[in-house]
Order: sequence, then structure tokens, then C-alpha cells
Amino acid sequence: MTLAVFGHLNPDTDAITSALVYASFLNKTGVPATAYRLGDLNSETKFVLERAGVQAPAPVPALEKGSEVALTDHNEAAQSIANLSELKITHIVDHHKASLSSSEPLFLRFEPLGCTGTILAKLYVENNVHIEVWEADLMLSAILSDTLHYRSPTTTPADREMGAYLGQIAGVLDLEKYALEQFDAKSDLGDLSAAQMLRTDYKLFTFGGKSYGLGVLESTDLSYALGRKAELLQAMQDEKDEHNLAGIFLSLIDILEQKNLTLVLGPDEQKVLEGAFQATVKDDVADLGPLISRKKQVVPALEGYL
Ligand code: MN
Ligand code: MN
Repeated sequence: MTLAVFGHLNPDTDAITSALVYASFLNKTGVPATAYRLGDLNSETKFVLERAGVQAPAPVPALEKGSEVALTDHNEAAQSIANLSELKITHIVDHHKASLSSSEPLFLRFEPLGCTGTILAKLYVENNVHIEVWEADLMLSAILSDTLHYRSPTTTPADREMGAYLGQIAGVLDLEKYALEQFDAKSDLGDLSAAQMLRTDYKLFTFGGKSYGLGVLESTDLSYALGRKAELLQAMQDEKDEHNLAGIFLSLIDILEQKNLTLVLGPDEQKVLEGAFQATVKDDVADLGPLISRKKQVVPALEGYL
């Protein structure tokens, strides 16, 4: 079997496109590889792949002990394939904090940039590998998705530079228009259950030895999600019970206004939000103001507090 390349569970656009693009890069540089996914596509990613005319990767098959895998857009075991500890990780390309240890040497590429897509574009340039239109399109779409078109504080000059460069290759002249189309697709939550909304961009973290669930729901209009608050809180309670979590949070992010309203399930969560963010809670909602990045703002604050 060839090297299996995949992004994190509950995949976002970067998780899916980085697997597709990195598998292509590896194939072009002499490493036979196949892209897979660890979950269903969200509405934004479906839109992005359709627009680019690219097929979604298949769900990851059962991987035998010792199979070689490459991780993109993640490196935490809790966010990866269930039997990761039995597999042999040969490559990681990521822009999150490092948490895995390995028993053997491997190819590691971590950079504190806004998107895995930006790191991949740099790999193409550094290695003189030709970037095809579809690859440029997917990397650009991931950059616009992860950085909310450069609105997120995770954005770096490299993301802007690579975004402009990839836009030229992909023939995208108006990046804001392109990004808004994606955000509209992402905001289309109409036929999702509350449990699916919670899992759209949901990750588990360990803080102070305990397990916490952190979901993010990005939208151009929060009124729809806020209107389903009671259902979402119930879905959070179910998830908390099922996985024995110390706490669970769902942040509703207004992409255009750059605001974070986090749903507060109960007293455990309220105490943490008040302690970590000095947030005030009203009607089961904590206003975290402009803290729109889970990776750069929310997780470090929780980690520090807990
Ligand atoms: Mn991701
Ligand atoms: Mn990412």
C-alpha cells in the first residue's frame, strides 16, 4: 500500500485540501502517496472541491499495524486516526503546536503560519515543483478559509504572499469575492442537526490532565445558530456525557464582524470562561470579543488557566 496522507478528524477545508495537495506533491517527488479523509466534508469544502473540479478523497481504510502514514494540518493523536499509535508516521506538515513524539526519524515541517496550504505552497516553490491550477486553487481556498481571508490574527505575511501568488496561478483576480463565496457556503447550515453543527469543526484537547471539547462554528450571520441555542446546548451535553469531558465549548464566530460568542453549557464551563477570559456570561452565552482564533487565542488562554 502507498503512503496514506490525511488531515484531522472532523475535517475542515485545510485538512482535506492539504491531504490532496500533499499527496500530489509526494507523488511528484517520487513518494507514492494517496490522500484520504477522516470524516465527512463540510459545506465549504464541498463547494471548494466542486468549484475546482476535484474529487473528494476517500474515507481512510482500515490501516494495518505498521502502515506508513503522513499527517497534514494536525499532529495530535486525539485529532487523528484511532490506531495512530500502531502506525508509522513518516511525514508531518502542520501549523499547530507540536504534541507528538516519534520513535523513528521522520520528515517534519512545522511553521507558525496561518494555514497548512501556505506551507505546502512553500514546499512546491523550494523544490521547484510545478504548481497545477487545481493545486493552486485548493491551497488558495484553504488559506482563505483558515485565515478568514486574512482577518484572523493567525495571518502572517507569508499567507498573504502565497495567497497572491496562488491566485495568479489559479486565475483568481478578486480574492475577496472568492472568499465570500466560500464563507456563504460555510454558513449554509440549514440541513444539519445540532450534533452535526457541533462537530463541524470540533477538536479534543487535554488541559491540566483533563479532556475538553472545543468546537468552532464560523458564519457570516450568527442569528441562525443562536436561534438553535437550546438544541446546541443539548448536543454539547450529550457529547460531554458520552466522552466524559471536563468541559465543552462551542464558539460561534462571526467571520465578517470578527466576534466570538461562546455557548456556555453549565457552571463548570462558566467558571473556566470567567477565569481564562474574564468573560461575562449572559443567557448561556459568553462574549469573547475579537478572540476568533481557537489555535492562537482560545487554546493558549485555556491552557494557561487550566
Ligand atoms: Mn484544520
Ligand atoms: Mn489549518
